[in-house]
Amino acid sequence: MDRRNCPLWLFVLAFFLILPLGNQAQSRAAADLIITNAKIWTVDPALPTGHAVAVLGDRIVAVGSNGDADAWRGPGTRVIEAQGKLLLPGFNDAHVHFVSGGRQLDSIQLNDAANPQEFARRIGERVKVTPKGEWILGGNWDETKWDPPNMPTKELIDALTPDTPVFVSRYDGHMGLANSVALRLAGITAKTPDPPGGTIVRDAQGNPTGALKDAATEYIYKVIPPLTHDQRLRIVKRALAYAASVGVTSVQHMSADYEDIAVYAELLQRGELTTRIYAAPSIASVGDLAKLGIRRAFGGPFLRIGALKAFADGSLGSGTAYFYEPFLNQGNNRGLLSDEMHPISLMRDRYLKADAAGLQLCTHAIGDEGISTILDLYTDVLQAHGESDRRWRIEHAQHMAAKDFQRFRQLHVIASVQPYHAIDDGRFAESHIGHDRASRTYAFRTFLDHGVRLAFGTDWEVAPLDPLLTVYAAVTRATLDGKNPNGWFPEQKLAVSEAIEAYTMGSAYAEFQEKEKGSIMPGKLADMVLVSEDIFSIPPEKIRDARILKTFVGGRLVFDSGSPNR
Ligand SMILES: [Zn+2]
Repeated sequence: MDRRNCPLWLFVLAFFLILPLGNQAQSRAAADLIITNAKIWTVDPALPTGHAVAVLGDRIVAVGSNGDADAWRGPGTRVIEAQGKLLLPGFNDAHVHFVSGGRQLDSIQLNDAANPQEFARRIGERVKVTPKGEWILGGNWDETKWDPPNMPTKELIDALTPDTPVFVSRYDGHMGLANSVALRLAGITAKTPDPPGGTIVRDAQGNPTGALKDAATEYIYKVIPPLTHDQRLRIVKRALAYAASVGVTSVQHMSADYEDIAVYAELLQRGELTTRIYAAPSIASVGDLAKLGIRRAFGGPFLRIGALKAFADGSLGSGTAYFYEPFLNQGNNRGLLSDEMHPISLMRDRYLKADAAGLQLCTHAIGDEGISTILDLYTDVLQAHGESDRRWRIEHAQHMAAKDFQRFRQLHVIASVQPYHAIDDGRFAESHIGHDRASRTYAFRTFLDHGVRLAFGTDWEVAPLDPLLTVYAAVTRATLDGKNPNGWFPEQKLAVSEAIEAYTMGSAYAEFQEKEKGSIMPGKLADMVLVSEDIFSIPPEKIRDARILKTFVGGRLVFDSGSPNR
């Protein structure tokens, strides 16, 4: 009916017919989602457990008994029967390298190639799906699994890769194999000298075999083009899907490139972000963010910026973490301050500038003197600008001087730690730094005893993203080599509830979002995971075998294993 011909009375009638429906919808909104018959651990001390949760839009509206949630049921409500499974707040990984992680997922996998033929076959298959001009990278091959364990050479793959540059890495990261295309692009010939600290492996005639060691790999890395926008998009999508599959609903991306943030922003606009992201670019960009007027945790529920990532020192394994006393068996070596700390006043100036602009500081510090030096600098900023709610962080906080736990507390510094590193580095830490210093390595219990806030993460791609593996690490402290089944420095073990809190509320606090997420309570974003096992009651060593069944972000099911049971 054309409106001009429609009598007025019909409009009035229609108005009164529609009115009651509208009123009803207003007074009793129905939930979009109800999860019922769950075993909920809320991480809300006021109501630690429950059986059901109701979600309206992207927020939780009710937590409690099945009846409490059922009161929100309407004709359009989706109801998920959890069959008694454990429901937790979504995990928030406080320290990831999200694009590097996605790149690792996206790259060729050669580690389990059982022989050179399989190694070559996989590279040949990869060529077929690799866009023209793109490099084939990654791989983590391990020739010790072959019989005989001979190093691969370019001849193995050259015929399969006539136009595609290939540089696949050995699993230890100290060597890679280039094909002829890559060698040509890098200008490596029989005449190229070995660089200091590196080797171009050569055959009997002196020609490069394609294998490059340590510093010689730089010849290749120099000529690999940076990721294109499309590559980055593809990689981030891989990372998002993977994060959902392991129950990670929020990540804090340390050392994010601007190009990464551009990809996140594009996916946000398209409604395709399924993991909430807090991106912290390098402190070298303090000038840009200060100029823009961006402050800490600026943005929306899916994408925030306003933190800066800085580096104090290196790592334990490479002998570059900065200690008061030398490493054992390494002469006088006591590690190195990073180039951002030369001179230390450079870092102080950047901190002051960042703090004046309201930006949050996240500083990588691993050795005891590296950590102490950062606490000194944080103290300088506090004295210059006075008290405020800054939530400074030290990333890793791995080897603490006994005197500094109290200083963490006084400065309200958050220990942003990665329990998996503890069971990894725990294999060799004592041989590098001795028993006394190792006793304050990833000292989670001592931090909590001093009233220091913990935020849990993984450092993915350096370590696996799987949060249940991280909880396992914090609860068991069982080193990866199986030599400490009852825990390495067992007095530092955490309870399951403490580990989960550090991974949810702790990480949320570390990004100024503890009022928005981190626990299952009315008003908060509906980020939740359903777990295959009750990790509170199974033997701790089994926690790593538990799986994520379903992942919800803002009430949206972003991962479904297909069954409530497995
Ligand atoms: Zn890192």
